[in-house]
Amino acid sequence: MTVDKKIPVGILGATGSVGQKFVELLTDHPWFEITELAASEKSAGRKYDDVVNWFLPSRIPASIGALSVKECRPGLNCKIVFSALDANAAGEIETEFANAGYVVVSNAKNHRYDKDVPLLIPDVNPDHLDIIKQQKFSGGMIITNPNCSTTGLAVALKPLHDAFGIEALNVVTMQALSGAGYPGVSSLDAMDNVIPFIKGEEEKMELEPLKILGAFNGTEIINADFKISASCNRVSVIDGHLESVSIKLKNPATESEIIDVLINYKSEPQRLKLPSAPLQPVHYFYEDDMPQPRLLRNLESGMAVSVGRLRKCNLFDYKFSVLSHNTIRGAAGGAILNAELLAAKGYLD
Ligand code: NAP
Repeated sequence: MTVDKKIPVGILGATGSVGQKFVELLTDHPWFEITELAASEKSAGRKYDDVVNWFLPSRIPASIGALSVKECRPGLNCKIVFSALDANAAGEIETEFANAGYVVVSNAKNHRYDKDVPLLIPDVNPDHLDIIKQQKFSGGMIITNPNCSTTGLAVALKPLHDAFGIEALNVVTMQALSGAGYPGVSSLDAMDNVIPFIKGEEEKMELEPLKILGAFNGTEIINADFKISASCNRVSVIDGHLESVSIKLKNPATESEIIDVLINYKSEPQRLKLPSAPLQPVHYFYEDDMPQPRLLRNLESGMAVSVGRLRKCNLFDYKFSVLSHNTIRGAAGGAILNAELLAAKGYLD
């Protein structure tokens, strides 16, 4: 697909951890152009440069830094709003924008479980997108992406779910600090430490994959029917969530069959050649000590998921490790891929 005129987009929550990643990834995007930045009342009315505590290694593009930050209210000059809002504010603001005719592409949890809102990963459940036809907002729509730790897991599970079926799953996460937003966890809590609790995270991980891997029958999404047990930990890594997974499959599979379906998996974003799509959603690493966050989180610009350490499990069938970039694949990059799918499917015409 080629775009004659770039689609104007706004970022709600542009000053936060995910908001900054949106700015970075949308600068020079072939289809989208940032025209509006918005955040809380305390940031509104000031230049982005002056108000953002930019902590990414790239520079703020000059044209973006000069933009005046607005309040998160309809009236913004754009068609799509990417929401990187704190969950305390996101629910109502996103509904208000959808009712004002905007396409809301959200990272926040508030609308993820609404029956007519897709919880979308274009490489996993692109068919779920069509449920937006049932939404009743006046003119606009809301689509969401999953929690950052769910995204990498769901991408790795999809090929296995399709090929062998999943009976049960146990997952233990080691989640990066940037997942807690900015400024996030204080240095005295984070350094030399692991925090074995992330509020609400285990509940999300035990529920979201079931909607994502569920079947859309044209009317509703029927959740997948396996059980998940999740234990979530915050570790002292800047970006990249690592997860240890134990899985019981419905049908027998050998190690080489599992690796085969993982590395050969392709989906709609690859067929449509969406600009942010990884060429290969899942990469498998045979080294004993892979995947590691520092070495592999930026694979395929942070959009590919790395899997390794596949081996027999004494309790379930197999165990393996999954790694994905939490603010790219698990947040801003995933949301941008969602918007690209919307565009490619004609939902933005
Ligand atoms: P964050 O760093 O705390 O940023 C929150 C943003 O929301 C800031 O721009 C803030 O603006 C704005 N905001 C807060 N209260 C507001 C209000 N009442 N009205 C308008 N704007 C308000 O959080 P984050 O980590 O970027 O996360 C953003 C969202 O994405 C959250 O819902 C989070 O759960 C989700 N998410 C995060 C990740 C991740 O890896 N970090 C991954 C997936 C999903 P000010 O600067 O002006 O206060």
